[in-house]
Amino acid sequence: MLSVHACPLAKLGGRDSGGMNVYVREVARELAWRGDRVDVFTRWREPDDPQIQELGPGASVIHIPSGPVRYIPKIEVYERIGQFTASILEYVEHNGLKYDLVHSHYWLSAVVARELAARWDVPTVHMAHTLGLVKREVADEDPDAESDIRVEIERRAVRRSDGLVAASEIEASELLRLYDADPAKLSIVPCGVDTDVFRPIRQVDAREALGRDQCERLMLFVGRIEQIKGIDVLLDALGLLFKRRPDLRGDVCLVVVGGALDPGDDAPETEKIQELRRLVHEHRMEDSVDFIGSIDQPRLALWYSAADLCAVPSLTESFGLVALEAMACGTPVVATRVGGLQTVVEDGESGLLVPPGDHAALAEAIEQLLMDHRLRTHLAHGARDRAEHFTWQRVGDGIEALYDRVLAARAARLAV
Ligand code: UDP
Repeated sequence: MLSVHACPLAKLGGRDSGGMNVYVREVARELAWRGDRVDVFTRWREPDDPQIQELGPGASVIHIPSGPVRYIPKIEVYERIGQFTASILEYVEHNGLKYDLVHSHYWLSAVVARELAARWDVPTVHMAHTLGLVKREVADEDPDAESDIRVEIERRAVRRSDGLVAASEIEASELLRLYDADPAKLSIVPCGVDTDVFRPIRQVDAREALGRDQCERLMLFVGRIEQIKGIDVLLDALGLLFKRRPDLRGDVCLVVVGGALDPGDDAPETEKIQELRRLVHEHRMEDSVDFIGSIDQPRLALWYSAADLCAVPSLTESFGLVALEAMACGTPVVATRVGGLQTVVEDGESGLLVPPGDHAALAEAIEQLLMDHRLRTHLAHGARDRAEHFTWQRVGDGIEALYDRVLAARAARLAV
């Protein structure tokens, strides 16, 4: 597997580390558990990481040096991609390794996959995770100025890969409509959640463990601090809610999980949080919004369980693991009707869906959910039931079936 910029063992919730890291980690483990040998090649970003780290029996992460050993923007990762590829080739040759298939994650990895597959004469499977053309439709910031190069590489990956994974029907339709994908290559494999890690914990216990007030109405946002995640829309929604219902001001609290609070850790991340704090100030909500930085997943389960609702206001979302994790903890979700969130959340059954970018609709849904205890209980049960359908084992079934198909097609071609 290739996951050039996203190490599956990275700390989550910071810049460029989120759902894709989790996905690669879980799928690699699942496939290895089934007896495949999986090596994940990724860029060496953390100085304290050893070159090789076990993900689990049969699955390893191999860090490949490429540029400075620290975070660099994706466009700089791209500029060094030739060197990165050459280093993998060298490593593989030096260690006498041999692979049957290359699975690339995200456009950066597609560049490497093409070169490796040609050298080793093996088929490729690609998963985009997010698509440049979809992102371009909704985001007005392109921090890495990567868009044009990215879209061109994505088009090529869609054309040349032997198999393509989409996380939802919507992503599949985007691949067909915007990238002219061959339907025969496409497999729709929804993502999964570990229901042992993300399980319902009694709200009183979770709140006690976190030292939170038992009486507050607690809303949660979890994710990377990026415009595309719609946090500003959520803050505007909360501002509107307080305007309409001033009585809720002292009662409702929004906790924002993700990002870096300490500029020593990551200055640009901290700046994004500062910008959001300014919006909080404009709405006079300093006492109602807490930014707590990123949290590791086992502890995150406590936060999901302590919350009355989890807001996922993304402008676009290829899948939306956060929604699924909250649901697995029995916490209803208010999400936007975009991408995979529509697959995960059944409106009125396991959460509420609102149009993206619409702070008034979001405010209304939040108010409804916070005030209506019966609705919350109904959605909480529905949420957990729904989440149980999405296991990593099922993801493994889907990916393995696609690998088998791709390898069989290649064998048949070679036999002619
Ligand atoms: N996450 C985490 N700690 C944080 C913030 C996020 O562990 O402080 C994890 C979260 O549990 C989820 C992932 O990061 O698994 C985010 O995935 P999602 O699909 O929601 O968003 P993406 O990052 O792919 O855009």
